[in-house]
Amino acid sequence: MIQGKVYFVGAGPGDLDLITVKGLRLLQKADVVIFDRLVNPFLLMETSPEAKLVYCGKQPCKHTLRQEDIQKELLIHAKKGLTVVRLKGGDPSVFGRVGEEAELCAQHQIKYEIIPGITSGSAASMYAGVPVTYRKLSGSFATVTGHTCTKDGKPAVNWSSLASAVDTIVFYMGMKHLPTISNELIHHGKSKDTPILVVQWGTYSKQRTVEGTLATIVAKAELAQIQNPAIILVGEVVKLRAKLNWFEQKPLSGRGMLIPTATDFCEEVSQLKEQGADVYAYPFLSQAIQMNHRDQLVLTRLFEDEHINTICLLTYQDYLKFFEYIDLSGINVDSLRICTFICSDPSTELRLREAGFDVYQVAAINVEQITEAVLPTQVQIAEPLRGSL
Ligand code: SAH
Repeated sequence: MIQGKVYFVGAGPGDLDLITVKGLRLLQKADVVIFDRLVNPFLLMETSPEAKLVYCGKQPCKHTLRQEDIQKELLIHAKKGLTVVRLKGGDPSVFGRVGEEAELCAQHQIKYEIIPGITSGSAASMYAGVPVTYRKLSGSFATVTGHTCTKDGKPAVNWSSLASAVDTIVFYMGMKHLPTISNELIHHGKSKDTPILVVQWGTYSKQRTVEGTLATIVAKAELAQIQNPAIILVGEVVKLRAKLNWFEQKPLSGRGMLIPTATDFCEEVSQLKEQGADVYAYPFLSQAIQMNHRDQLVLTRLFEDEHINTICLLTYQDYLKFFEYIDLSGINVDSLRICTFICSDPSTELRLREAGFDVYQVAAINVEQITEAVLPTQVQIAEPLRGSL
């Protein structure tokens, strides 16, 4: 009997380019991809259009049955002789349950490999300007879950050891219990002035960061409405952000851009990324009107998690097709109202305005014009939410 194989692949924390070369190659040749909520949906555009895509949007503690279903999916396809990629956000070995799923493969004599990924704890920290170690400030760091599957969900941690034994602490899944985390650390000996940083959607252009101390962070994070996915970083290294905040200062920081077009826009895409935008250059308009399952799934997921706030429509044709595709995907047009549209064509502008959308008409669609168009709004939107509140 032909045996399939399961590859557990780390997708990285969000930035599309932070998947490993090996992981990307496997994704491209997979027959089946089973992916989590925290995987950047646009990575799936790398899969073959024939691949079967299975979404398991897991939430902490709500996955007893789902986890069983995921395991069933893994086994069924591998036993059919298919190549299965189990794509997990960040590194599968960090709060990713790869151990349990690989054990299951072993039990059923199914071959598997594990491809590590870049974990959000260090990546989101570094994209917020903070290395988790730094010679004069931190010689150790601990990775801790801020959530356990008990009745109250509070972290089950040896607080006194944690507070005294390591220099930098990174909590995952901790936003709900931020008050417990900061109180326990103070109670077990950390100064209430210890710097702390919360980073939401780290490494995406829409990354948001709130800085404070153990005494002030709860109120600040609440004010900024930071929720999971976010990491909580505690330690003196947080002070380095004042000097090393390289990512959030890019001109197009905060912009998730959808560019649905058949036109070759590659050069501009890399320039827009360089300026700090997340760019989803969507090639679907080159196809016949039928939208394949993969493209539809990706588009829906991008809007569901609000990865897009800017839509560039290069031609009137692109405008017509884009709305046709939105309709076909079953996406509610009202969910596009958080977006700014950019176009260069007067008829597109007129139509969008009539439909009540926020629209900028630029002379030509290129990096300079796009940057100029969105810059004033970006500062307005981003300023109260960014930096040290
Ligand atoms: N295996 C993942 C972690 C899964 S647990 C990894 O290695 O990163 C889920 C938690 O990871 C989230 O609740 C959040 O705390 C953290 N997380 C994942 N992606 C994140 C991101 N882009 N920014 C900030 N935190 C993130």
